[in-house]
Amino acid sequence: MVAQLLEGAVVVESVLNDLQKRIAALKAKNITPGLGTILVGDDGASAGYVRKKHETCEQVGLRSFHIDVPSDAGQKALLAAVEEFNSNDEVHGYLIQHPVPQGFDFNEALAAIDPAKDADGLHPMSLGKLVLQEEGPRPCTPAGIVAMFDYYDIDLTGKNVVVVGRGPTLGRPLALMLANRGVDAAVTVVHSRVPDISAYTKQADVVIGAVGKPSVITPEMVKPGAIVVSGGITWEGRKLLPDVDESVGDVAGWITPRLGGVGPTTVGMLLANTVAACELKTL
Ligand code: NAP
Repeated sequence: MVAQLLEGAVVVESVLNDLQKRIAALKAKNITPGLGTILVGDDGASAGYVRKKHETCEQVGLRSFHIDVPSDAGQKALLAAVEEFNSNDEVHGYLIQHPVPQGFDFNEALAAIDPAKDADGLHPMSLGKLVLQEEGPRPCTPAGIVAMFDYYDIDLTGKNVVVVGRGPTLGRPLALMLANRGVDAAVTVVHSRVPDISAYTKQADVVIGAVGKPSVITPEMVKPGAIVVSGGITWEGRKLLPDVDESVGDVAGWITPRLGGVGPTTVGMLLANTVAACELKTL
């Protein structure tokens, strides 16, 4: 391994330190920001992600709220959970853990969330603000990747960035965020219909995996010294497998580690969106 590590755990520590000051300022006014989670069904990985979010809330002094929707309860029960959080003034931001089981319409439930409480930054209103380059909650996983570049002082102005994947959670919003004013990268998006992805990635200063398939990015696809980030992950049993093969670390200049990469920063951004929503409502 020659590459230096882009450590999400270190990045999130700095994000949470900053948040703690803002939370203290809110608490001085007798306001405690609250994050809500809605978990549909009983998928083990999803339940684990939700648990981690609540643990991090406790760590920084946020209140947290949770609603379980059983997998056989139907869309009406999910919409009722959304309504419950919309009308709870102690919940400043919340999310529906996704993917949701078959038989539920995630997009319909997402659109029913009060946009002022959109902790995940995935509500159509929030995505519209991203396109318009207006202030608003940003999707957490892409925002975590941008925070990582900021923390490590990596200037992407004019850099050739290739995002592999065009999904709604990661690749598509990330490409917009990187091309927007302030980051100013030259962004190319490739996906499953592009026959030779390596023709693009080999030219790139920065390659970002946003696929969710193990090792789709291999060393021969990467220019020596490039910055390589694995946003996409896959669980194989209890083992987490990134989009970027570990051997890419022998070629790249910077790389995210298999564990403690983008995951922790995603949680940090979720809390940041919640605190910002609370500040907007109350300060
Ligand atoms: P998605 O909708 O499943 O999108 C996956 C994208 O990958 C699609 O655009 C697909 O192309 C493309 N693709 C599939 N196989 C490919 C291949 N062999 N080569 C190139 N592109 C390929 O996913 P999403 O919702 O955006 O999320 C993507 C991943 O983000 C998830 O799978 C998950 O691993 C990860 N994620 C990570 C975190 C975290 O905290 N680290 C949080 C949330 C999500 P087509 O459009 O042509 O089908």
